[in-house]
Amino acid sequence: MIEPKFKKINEDVKTFKDLENDIIKSNLCCACGACIAYCESQSFDVIEMENYSPKFKSDKNAENCRECGLCYFICPQTSPLLDKLNQAYCVEDEIGQVLDVIAAKTTNKAIENVGQDGGIVSTILTYLFEEHMIDAAIVSECDENFEPIPKIIYDKNYLLKSAGTRYSISSQILPLKELYDLSEEILEKLGVYEVDQLHLAFIGTPCQCRALSKMKLMHIKPAHIIKYIIGLFCFENFNYSQLYEIIKKETKVPPTDIKKTWIKKNFFIKTKDDKEFELDIKTLDPAVRNHCHECDEFTARFTDISVGASGAPKGYSMILIRTENGENIIKELLSRGFIEQLIVDNVSEWNTKKINWFKKLLSFKTKK
Ligand SMILES: Cc1cc2nc3c(=O)[nH]c(=O)nc-3n(C[C@H](O)[C@H](O)[C@H](O)COP(=O)(O)OP(=O)(O)OC[C@H]3O[C@@H](n4cnc5c(N)ncnc54)[C@H](O)[C@@H]3O)c2cc1C
Ligand code: SF4
Ligand code: SF4
Ligand code: SF4
Repeated sequence: MIEPKFKKINEDVKTFKDLENDIIKSNLCCACGACIAYCESQSFDVIEMENYSPKFKSDKNAENCRECGLCYFICPQTSPLLDKLNQAYCVEDEIGQVLDVIAAKTTNKAIENVGQDGGIVSTILTYLFEEHMIDAAIVSECDENFEPIPKIIYDKNYLLKSAGTRYSISSQILPLKELYDLSEEILEKLGVYEVDQLHLAFIGTPCQCRALSKMKLMHIKPAHIIKYIIGLFCFENFNYSQLYEIIKKETKVPPTDIKKTWIKKNFFIKTKDDKEFELDIKTLDPAVRNHCHECDEFTARFTDISVGASGAPKGYSMILIRTENGENIIKELLSRGFIEQLIVDNVSEWNTKKINWFKKLLSFKTKK
């Protein structure tokens, strides 16, 4: 039997070809992987990620495109759905809805040793796994070359491997496409009959959280099983190969020798033998991803909880609680001693000061 070809019925529908023209070829793609994760999980077999850029797998595969237009809709860099997303997350200004803002750090020594700042993200995930509130989490690990690997983990014992920040793109939504290939053995181990019964948490940069929130807004698979979205503050992100080329040129340190990197005005590198290097952040400008120059997010508006270091004392993280979901988690973490809150004298004055600080940083970012 000849398969019927379902093609677009409305000429106004924008498809992957438009995504190529409007976003990818204009260097606005943030390589989140949402377009591919959606398309692949529907088994359309059309597009793939190559060198941090989505493309048709081949001319032959391009013919499989149903021209459904969903990849264009959910792309975080396109405008459809943004108004509805703002409404859903009660976003009224550039920082977004904030129910509370606190500074805190983990009480778990193992996480403290490897966490980027206050180890809050890994502690939240530990709690969610221990309380069986999630079966899996999408995190970012890295390989021996310090290159990020987006990954779904099904066990809290893998969390220490993902702790810490790698300042280059990790296509965090891409792993969602693997979900429908999970073996029955794994599902049985997780105690479910089908993928749709799983509960996941997602960690990502603001643009990635925006893509995922668009997918959730449209109730499309496989984003419907993400129950918690945790966003990371993000001023800018880097192209992996350009970043480590510059670092190697300036410090002679290859990525294989790096243990940790962090940004505190400048870029810092700690090697596996505990030597520290400081690089003027401007030296790294040529490696900044183009889409980051156009970005108007810093604290991740479309999340349950946003976490970052800016504004927090050393060893602590700033936590923006945005939804009731997020509020319940942080309350539990505090009352059960998973995390320890920084005590401040005048809470409301402190909160206002912090929000104004984030607004100032965001304004600096968008003017840069
Ligand atoms: C590209 C980038 C830029 C950032 N810029 C800023 C900034 O300007 N100001 C600021 O205050 N904070 C920034 N952050 C956030 C900060 O570096 C920490 O991630 C945050 O403070 C959480 O620290 P933690 O100790 O609670 O997390 P941990 O417990 O150490 O967990 C860190 C989590 O980050 C995830 N992760 C690591 N690398 C990546 C990646 N490349 N992409 C997506 N997820 C990743 C891991 O999966 C892990 O779950 C940035 C993060 C990234 C990824
Ligand atoms: S089938 Fe739909 S989601 Fe896949 S590439 Fe074509 S328009 Fe995009
Ligand atoms: S959905 Fe993500 S990966 Fe796809 S084009 Fe948009 S930004 Fe790029
Ligand atoms: S600066 Fe903006 S576009 Fe760039 S990675 Fe961060 S959130 Fe995404």
